[in-house]
Amino acid sequence: MNEAVRDPGPSRAAPAGEEHDPVRAPWTGPMRAALDEAVRAPATGDVPVGAVVLGPDGSVIGRGRNEREATGDPTGHAEVLALREAARAVGEWRLAGCTLVVTLEPCTMCAGAIVLSRVDRVVYGAVDEKAGAAGSLWDVLRDRRLNHRPEVIQGVLAGECAGLLTDFFRGR
Ligand SMILES: [Zn+2]
Repeated sequence: MNEAVRDPGPSRAAPAGEEHDPVRAPWTGPMRAALDEAVRAPATGDVPVGAVVLGPDGSVIGRGRNEREATGDPTGHAEVLALREAARAVGEWRLAGCTLVVTLEPCTMCAGAIVLSRVDRVVYGAVDEKAGAAGSLWDVLRDRRLNHRPEVIQGVLAGECAGLLTDFFRGR
Protein backbone atom coordinates (compact mmCIF):
# COMPACT_ATOMS: atom_id res chain seq x y z
CA MET A 1 0.00 0.00 0.00
CA ASN A 2 2.99 2.31 -0.40
CA GLU A 3 1.34 3.79 -3.47
CA ALA A 4 -1.71 4.81 -1.48
CA VAL A 5 0.44 6.45 1.16
CA ARG A 6 2.12 8.52 -1.53
CA ASP A 7 -1.18 9.62 -3.04
CA PRO A 8 -1.45 13.39 -2.62
CA GLY A 9 -5.16 13.29 -1.76
CA PRO A 10 -7.71 15.85 -2.86
CA SER A 11 -5.22 18.64 -3.41
CA ARG A 12 -4.90 20.64 -6.60
CA ALA A 13 -1.15 20.83 -6.26
CA ALA A 14 0.76 18.39 -8.40
CA PRO A 15 2.89 16.13 -6.27
CA ALA A 16 6.46 17.26 -6.30
CA GLY A 17 8.22 15.95 -9.34
CA GLU A 18 5.26 14.08 -10.82
CA GLU A 19 6.26 15.29 -14.27
CA HIS A 20 9.62 13.56 -13.78
CA ASP A 21 8.18 10.37 -12.30
CA PRO A 22 9.24 7.71 -14.82
CA VAL A 23 6.22 5.51 -14.02
CA ARG A 24 3.50 8.17 -14.17
CA ALA A 25 4.86 10.81 -16.56
CA PRO A 26 4.12 8.81 -19.76
CA TRP A 27 0.43 8.71 -18.82
CA THR A 28 -0.27 12.37 -18.13
CA GLY A 29 -1.30 13.02 -21.77
CA PRO A 30 -3.89 10.21 -21.84
CA MET A 31 -5.08 11.23 -18.37
CA ARG A 32 -5.73 14.73 -19.71
CA ALA A 33 -7.95 13.12 -22.37
CA ALA A 34 -9.83 11.30 -19.58
CA LEU A 35 -10.13 14.59 -17.66
CA ASP A 36 -11.58 16.21 -20.81
CA GLU A 37 -14.37 13.61 -20.63
CA ALA A 38 -14.84 14.03 -16.88
CA VAL A 39 -15.41 17.79 -17.03
CA ARG A 40 -18.39 17.25 -19.34
CA ALA A 41 -20.29 15.01 -16.90
CA PRO A 42 -21.70 17.69 -14.57
CA ALA A 43 -23.68 19.20 -17.47
CA THR A 44 -26.13 16.32 -16.96
CA GLY A 45 -25.77 16.27 -13.17
CA ASP A 46 -23.32 13.39 -13.36
CA VAL A 47 -20.32 12.94 -11.10
CA PRO A 48 -17.19 14.02 -13.04
CA VAL A 49 -15.38 10.79 -13.83
CA GLY A 50 -13.92 10.22 -17.29
CA ALA A 51 -12.10 7.41 -19.07
CA VAL A 52 -10.35 6.62 -22.33
CA VAL A 53 -9.11 3.35 -23.80
CA LEU A 54 -5.85 3.43 -25.74
CA GLY A 55 -5.24 0.92 -28.49
CA PRO A 56 -1.96 -0.98 -28.80
CA ASP A 57 -0.50 1.94 -30.78
CA GLY A 58 -1.46 4.44 -28.06
CA SER A 59 -4.29 6.11 -29.96
CA VAL A 60 -7.65 6.70 -28.25
CA ILE A 61 -10.18 4.07 -29.39
CA GLY A 62 -12.82 4.54 -26.70
CA ARG A 63 -14.08 7.37 -24.52
CA GLY A 64 -16.59 7.50 -21.72
CA ARG A 65 -17.82 9.65 -18.89
CA ASN A 66 -20.19 8.95 -16.05
CA GLU A 67 -23.70 9.02 -17.58
CA ARG A 68 -25.88 7.53 -14.87
CA GLU A 69 -28.05 10.60 -14.57
CA ALA A 70 -28.00 11.36 -18.30
CA THR A 71 -29.20 7.88 -19.27
CA GLY A 72 -30.80 6.52 -16.07
CA ASP A 73 -28.49 3.52 -16.34
CA PRO A 74 -27.01 2.21 -13.08
CA THR A 75 -24.12 0.69 -15.07
CA GLY A 76 -23.38 3.92 -16.94
CA HIS A 77 -19.92 4.39 -15.51
CA ALA A 78 -17.11 5.98 -17.53
CA GLU A 79 -15.00 2.81 -17.68
CA VAL A 80 -17.83 0.56 -18.92
CA LEU A 81 -18.81 3.05 -21.62
CA ALA A 82 -15.20 3.51 -22.76
CA LEU A 83 -14.65 -0.27 -22.89
CA ARG A 84 -17.82 -0.73 -24.96
CA GLU A 85 -16.75 1.92 -27.45
CA ALA A 86 -13.26 0.43 -27.68
CA ALA A 87 -14.67 -3.06 -28.29
CA ARG A 88 -16.85 -1.69 -31.09
CA ALA A 89 -13.76 -0.04 -32.60
CA VAL A 90 -11.70 -3.22 -32.37
CA GLY A 91 -14.57 -5.46 -33.50
CA GLU A 92 -14.40 -7.91 -30.62
CA TRP A 93 -14.65 -8.03 -26.85
CA ARG A 94 -11.01 -8.87 -26.20
CA LEU A 95 -9.00 -5.71 -25.68
CA ALA A 96 -5.57 -7.30 -25.30
CA GLY A 97 -2.80 -4.78 -25.84
CA CYS A 98 -5.03 -1.90 -24.75
CA THR A 99 -4.80 0.44 -21.75
CA LEU A 100 -7.74 1.88 -19.81
CA VAL A 101 -7.10 5.33 -18.34
CA VAL A 102 -9.63 6.66 -15.80
CA THR A 103 -9.69 9.66 -13.50
CA LEU A 104 -10.94 7.75 -10.41
CA GLU A 105 -10.10 4.35 -8.99
CA PRO A 106 -12.57 1.83 -10.51
CA CYS A 107 -15.48 0.45 -8.46
CA THR A 108 -16.17 -3.29 -8.14
CA MET A 109 -18.40 -3.35 -11.25
CA CYS A 110 -15.87 -1.56 -13.41
CA ALA A 111 -12.95 -3.57 -12.07
CA GLY A 112 -14.89 -6.72 -13.01
CA ALA A 113 -15.57 -5.36 -16.51
CA ILE A 114 -11.90 -4.42 -16.87
CA VAL A 115 -10.77 -7.95 -15.99
CA LEU A 116 -13.27 -9.41 -18.48
CA SER A 117 -12.05 -7.08 -21.23
CA ARG A 118 -8.47 -8.35 -20.81
CA VAL A 119 -6.84 -4.96 -21.20
CA ASP A 120 -3.11 -5.04 -20.50
CA ARG A 121 -3.03 -2.07 -18.20
CA VAL A 122 -5.14 0.25 -16.04
CA VAL A 123 -4.00 3.77 -15.21
CA TYR A 124 -6.01 5.79 -12.72
CA GLY A 125 -5.84 9.17 -11.06
CA ALA A 126 -7.53 9.71 -7.71
CA VAL A 127 -7.87 7.00 -5.08
CA ASP A 128 -11.45 6.17 -4.01
CA GLU A 129 -11.07 5.15 -0.41
CA LYS A 130 -14.84 4.62 0.03
CA ALA A 131 -15.53 2.34 -2.94
CA GLY A 132 -12.29 1.63 -4.80
CA ALA A 133 -11.72 -1.89 -6.11
CA ALA A 134 -8.19 -1.38 -7.41
CA GLY A 135 -6.26 -1.24 -4.17
CA SER A 136 -8.44 0.61 -1.66
CA LEU A 137 -11.39 -1.45 -0.35
CA TRP A 138 -10.71 -4.35 -2.70
CA ASP A 139 -8.07 -5.20 -5.26
CA VAL A 140 -10.06 -7.03 -7.92
CA LEU A 141 -7.55 -6.11 -10.65
CA ARG A 142 -4.67 -7.90 -8.94
CA ASP A 143 -6.61 -10.75 -7.32
CA ARG A 144 -4.53 -13.86 -7.93
CA ARG A 145 -7.66 -16.02 -8.01
CA LEU A 146 -8.65 -14.45 -11.33
CA ASN A 147 -7.13 -15.57 -14.61
CA HIS A 148 -6.32 -12.11 -15.92
CA ARG A 149 -4.49 -9.42 -14.00
CA PRO A 150 -3.70 -6.13 -15.73
CA GLU A 151 -0.79 -3.94 -14.71
CA VAL A 152 -2.02 -1.09 -12.48
CA ILE A 153 -0.54 2.41 -12.31
CA GLN A 154 -2.21 4.83 -9.93
CA GLY A 155 -1.82 8.45 -8.91
CA VAL A 156 -1.49 10.04 -12.37
CA LEU A 157 -2.62 13.69 -12.08
CA ALA A 158 -4.34 12.58 -8.88
CA GLY A 159 -4.69 16.11 -7.54
CA GLU A 160 -6.54 17.37 -10.61
CA CYS A 161 -8.73 14.28 -10.80
CA ALA A 162 -9.73 14.54 -7.13
CA GLY A 163 -10.15 18.31 -7.37
CA LEU A 164 -12.88 17.94 -10.00
CA LEU A 165 -14.81 15.67 -7.63
CA THR A 166 -14.29 17.91 -4.64
CA ASP A 167 -15.57 20.94 -6.56
CA PHE A 168 -18.58 19.00 -7.85
CA PHE A 169 -19.71 17.78 -4.44
CA ARG A 170 -19.01 21.13 -2.81
CA GLY A 171 -21.21 22.84 -5.39
CA ARG A 172 -24.23 20.61 -4.80
ZN1 LIG B 1 -17.55 1.95 -11.82
